[in-house]
Amino acid sequence: MNPFAFTQPKDIDGVLAQLAEGARPIAGGTNLLDLMKEGVMQPPQVVDINAIACAGLDGIEEADGGLRLGALARNADTAYHPLVRDRYPLLSSAILAGASPQLRNMATNGGNLLQRTRCVYFYDVGVPCNKREPGTGCPAKHGINRQLAILGTSEQCIATHPSDMCVALRALDAVVHVRSSSGEREIPFGEFHRLPGERPELDTTLQPGELITHIALPDAARFVAHSAYIKVRERLSYAFALVSVAAALDLDGGTIRAARIALGGVAHKPWRVEEAERELEGKQADEAAFALAAERILQGARGWGQNDFKLPLAKNAIVQALQTAVRGTAYARGERE
Ligand SMILES: Cc1cc2nc3c(=O)[nH]c(=O)nc-3n(C[C@H](O)[C@H](O)[C@H](O)COP(=O)(O)OP(=O)(O)OC[C@H]3O[C@@H](n4cnc5c(N)ncnc54)[C@H](O)[C@@H]3O)c2cc1C
Ligand code: SF4
Repeated sequence: MNPFAFTQPKDIDGVLAQLAEGARPIAGGTNLLDLMKEGVMQPPQVVDINAIACAGLDGIEEADGGLRLGALARNADTAYHPLVRDRYPLLSSAILAGASPQLRNMATNGGNLLQRTRCVYFYDVGVPCNKREPGTGCPAKHGINRQLAILGTSEQCIATHPSDMCVALRALDAVVHVRSSSGEREIPFGEFHRLPGERPELDTTLQPGELITHIALPDAARFVAHSAYIKVRERLSYAFALVSVAAALDLDGGTIRAARIALGGVAHKPWRVEEAERELEGKQADEAAFALAAERILQGARGWGQNDFKLPLAKNAIVQALQTAVRGTAYARGERE
């Protein structure tokens, strides 16, 4: 590992001053430390932001009719929080589908949003990779791409964003709140992660010097009774999604009033096609309508060889997630303690 400077400011201004100087924040460290040990990221300056948790950054509280999730709240604390379990069961299920209990105890909400791709070439400093070293090439296009994207790819990069939590946050219209030494701003979740395009080295629209302070969730009461997170992976735990689907329905009997559908494991960002959701409105909540929505969401999808199987898999997973949502959440069925 390369030598680096390390600071632990006690207040948020101290952290922001470090970030303005180019320091890299560390929260749970479950991704950043791995990347540093492998030599994939070599920040000369690291700022530990855990000491500022007490400044409200680790809280989960009601706000503006919805919820405010602190950036330093741990993934496990978020998933098991009564307000999240009762009002956002989709988010709770998505978080609990990720990683392992030990990792979720350590990982933070802010860090989860900024975890990096799991493309094997990105982690191997001995081979080219446009995301790690722009302009060197993308061996994944004709190489090991079983885990990689089928939507929104570019000539430069076909990586996926690996988070489960982010797929639910996208479906729930979350907003990311950030702060820097020059002020605060809000980023709608759909604009937070980006497609690779010509700049695959950039995962998000977060600017240098910006700290995620919290994630805001709008009220989602109408989706509480009918939501589901389906994750298809190589084994039942401790594996990243091949394809995942966060689905939520607002139903009037058997008729769809509103739908939310986001996919993970298929693109450089959580994938959502709002037009497909609008087309479901007023339709019967049945397999035929769900299959049409799946076709719409997957329009333009293409495989790269090893990941061709994701095309039918994603379609089936969308239909299955929506059918599971129709059957209702455990909470809605009265099965929650
Ligand atoms: C073996 C393994 C299996 C995993 N499986 C899954 C899985 O199935 N599903 C899944 O979703 N995830 C999975 N993960 C990833 C895990 O969820 C992430 O590593 C974790 O969420 C990152 O959070 P952290 O707090 O540890 O981030 P860190 O490692 O501390 O930081 C990650 C990045 O975020 C930046 N950062 C952190 N906090 C902030 C902030 N507040 N503002 C600005 N920048 C910030 C850091 O600078 C860094 O670039 C797995 C990880 C491992 C190691
Ligand atoms: S898909 Fe992206 S991360 Fe993977 S090798 Fe290509 S450029 Fe690198």
